[in-house]
Amino acid sequence: MGVKQITGYIWDEAERLPRNEMRKLQLERLQSCLTRVAKSVPFYRDKLANAGITPGDLGSIDDLARLPFTYKSDLRDNYPFGLFAKPASELVRLHASSGTTGKPTVVGYTQNDIELWSNLVARALAAAGVTSEDVVQNAYGYGLFTGGLGIHYGAEKIGATIVPVSGGNTQRQIMLIQDLSSTVLCCTPSYALVIAEALASEGIHPATLPLKVGIFGAEPWSEEIRHQIQDRLGIPALNIYGLSEVIGPGVAMECPQQVGMHIFEDHFIPEIIDPDTGESLPDGQVGELVFSCVTKEALPLIRYRTRDRTRLIREECACGRTMVRMDRILGRTDDMLIIRGVNVFPSQIETVLLRSAETEPQYQILVDRGDNHLDYLTVVVEAPQSTVGDSDRRGQLQTDLAQELNSALGISCAVRLVGPQEIQRSDGKAIRVIDNRII
Ligand code: AMP
Ligand code: ZN
Repeated sequence: MGVKQITGYIWDEAERLPRNEMRKLQLERLQSCLTRVAKSVPFYRDKLANAGITPGDLGSIDDLARLPFTYKSDLRDNYPFGLFAKPASELVRLHASSGTTGKPTVVGYTQNDIELWSNLVARALAAAGVTSEDVVQNAYGYGLFTGGLGIHYGAEKIGATIVPVSGGNTQRQIMLIQDLSSTVLCCTPSYALVIAEALASEGIHPATLPLKVGIFGAEPWSEEIRHQIQDRLGIPALNIYGLSEVIGPGVAMECPQQVGMHIFEDHFIPEIIDPDTGESLPDGQVGELVFSCVTKEALPLIRYRTRDRTRLIREECACGRTMVRMDRILGRTDDMLIIRGVNVFPSQIETVLLRSAETEPQYQILVDRGDNHLDYLTVVVEAPQSTVGDSDRRGQLQTDLAQELNSALGISCAVRLVGPQEIQRSDGKAIRVIDNRII
């Protein structure tokens, strides 16, 4: 299917600051942020004192590498408000990031933080061409998760009409797109595929819908998934990135060039480091993304270790923005599976599966430990009923995929084809890995 064309625009002039001015602005903001946290957050006062650093010691933004890191465990150890730089009376909002175990990570915002966040999401939406004429159907979850309310305030800032539908109830999503003439769809990429499947099964051709662009994020997705979504919905699928600890959605956003996400680095200074040694890595190399949130009032984290793996791209972008780009998230330092001693990233598996024209972009990765203490990797993937129902065809495809995965990953694995809709769908972040090992 043809993909509609969009024209983005630049929300504020900071997006095209020359590099030397950006570095100067970042240094000023970093110094003033350090002064603030050294005064109001005992955790940072002690850390900076132990490292023997005072804010005036920083002569250039490259000195950032001398500062200590902040980890998710620091937020957990100081749960819920220990790293906040403002008293409760100045907070106007709390959100929380879902943890798989134990307590969530709580993040807070002052009125100025909410204003900043709204402007940054407006920047992101503007990059996708969203204007006051648009109707934004927001199918990110509302609640403690930052996705829903983050997009909401940004869309209102632009003056667009927001439809705060939240995730789930796919039939209703489709009805609202049609009846309210939604032009922009915001949700996770996996939920965009769920909507696309429902359209197909109801016989609704996407070209008959008013949608003109999709803004998808909150979970990793590959270039292959992008093509699937664009093909099935007929709209450009742009990537938006963010995390609660930094602010929420609106940390980085792709422009219509689709060559990586521009990081809003006047507020969130990015670095890429080697996750094992903590050393800074040069531009272009893949490592762990680290952010210093230099303008936030309530939770100004310094050198926060995101655990997300990517690389920075400095080359000029045709859109005119000077802000550095980050590649799509290539995995997390903590979602790396170690199977029989081999490092395996779910994204590698996804890339192989989606190269096959016969499988659907719905899969799950199962890891089990046998009685012999060896690990077994099984990849379950959906295929059309015509393939699954034909035992010869199914057997052949399973063998072919297992071989391709074997050569891509360097370990053997089993592939199990299942029929359409057999893998559970999610209206938020998809669950791709089920690790049954008890380690
Ligand atoms: P949360 O703080 O619960 O919103 O989760 C933030 C995490 O979601 C990030 O650290 C990433 O791992 C993931 N994430 C958010 N946006 C994206 C995106 N566009 N691509 C890949 N992963 C993403
Ligand atoms: Zn660009």
